[in-house]
Amino acid sequence: GNKEWINLNELIEEILESLLYIPDWTDEIKIEKNLSDAAMLYVNRTEMQHVLWNLIINALQAMPGGGRLSIETRSFIDESGEDFVQLLIGDSGNGISSEDLEKIYQPFFTTKERGTGLGLAIVGRIIENCSGFLAVDSEIGKGTVFRVCLPRSREIQ
Ligand code: ADP
Ligand code: MG
Repeated sequence: GNKEWINLNELIEEILESLLYIPDWTDEIKIEKNLSDAAMLYVNRTEMQHVLWNLIINALQAMPGGGRLSIETRSFIDESGEDFVQLLIGDSGNGISSEDLEKIYQPFFTTKERGTGLGLAIVGRIIENCSGFLAVDSEIGKGTVFRVCLPRSREIQ
């Protein structure tokens, strides 16, 4: 799709603002932001909004009684010299069992009463299309961190 240079941090701020309109948004959620100065990415804006929205909503849904939402952007260069932006979205929620961890990217896999199970399947597909990487680290009862690594600029997919 059509790509443009976007500032990932600005997109994060936009999404966080839009969260204020979600009815079950609670003051019990503390947001910790650690945003890098170097968060420019050549990507499709709508796709990045989907990625951020899905990961942030999942994090909030994992903390019905409140908790800590952490959002971090970082920039790094891999061994081959490719420039990446890394996005970390963490929560202090219920965590994911090792059994479920194997299924979370499957379309229609959900543990929620009204879940669609499509959020992470879509996120996974978008990241893959951007030649990026997606990883998750989770501990039951402690929380979850999703790590997204995106090449800063890729013309050819
Ligand atoms: P849905 O949110 O509709 O259930 P998703 O594809 O977004 O579908 O997520 C699939 C499943 O992965 C969820 O039902 C949940 O079990 C698990 N999951 C995703 N993100 C988190 C998270 N941050 N904390 C705990 N579980 C999560
Ligand atoms: Mg979801």
